[in-house]
Amino acid sequence: MGINQLEFNQFPVITTRREAVVAWGRKNSLWPMPYGTACCGIEFMGVISSVFDISRFGAELVRFSPRQCDLLIVAGTITHKMAPILKQVYDQISDPKWVISMGVCASSGGFYNNYCTVQGIDHIIPVDVYIAGCPPRPEAVFDAVIKLQDKLENTEEGRIPPTQYQAAEPK
Ligand code: SF4
Repeated sequence: MGINQLEFNQFPVITTRREAVVAWGRKNSLWPMPYGTACCGIEFMGVISSVFDISRFGAELVRFSPRQCDLLIVAGTITHKMAPILKQVYDQISDPKWVISMGVCASSGGFYNNYCTVQGIDHIIPVDVYIAGCPPRPEAVFDAVIKLQDKLENTEEGRIPPTQYQAAEPK
């Protein structure tokens, strides 16, 4: 029996792939955990304020437990003494998980090129998006979130089903 236009309008059908639906859900429901250690951590407070409103990007549910988040935002200088703790926090986040490095200190050590500062958190954990600046403006953080969302939706890595996910190794 055929279906007429009226019936189709009442019961529209959309076909898609499971990976695309999962990626869409991930993209629009990131749960960030700020790992603030210095001034960039203060700037991150502006990111989640009502003035800038990160909820427009579906990432407003900031959590301070690695068990309850999937996006680690490292904001500030990381010392060698602090490195094992950052690694432990990262390991405690369930897969799939992503990392944004906020500011030059987290991304490369910045101007703290000395004996005690890690010269980029990618020596410890894998990083998905780097943000330049000292400190980066909230708009730059949003740009990083949008870049991550694009990665989740439009790359094979972002579409990998949870059961097949394997975390990337740090560089
Ligand atoms: Fe502070 Fe600048 Fe380093 Fe951010 S990048 S932690 S603002 S010194």
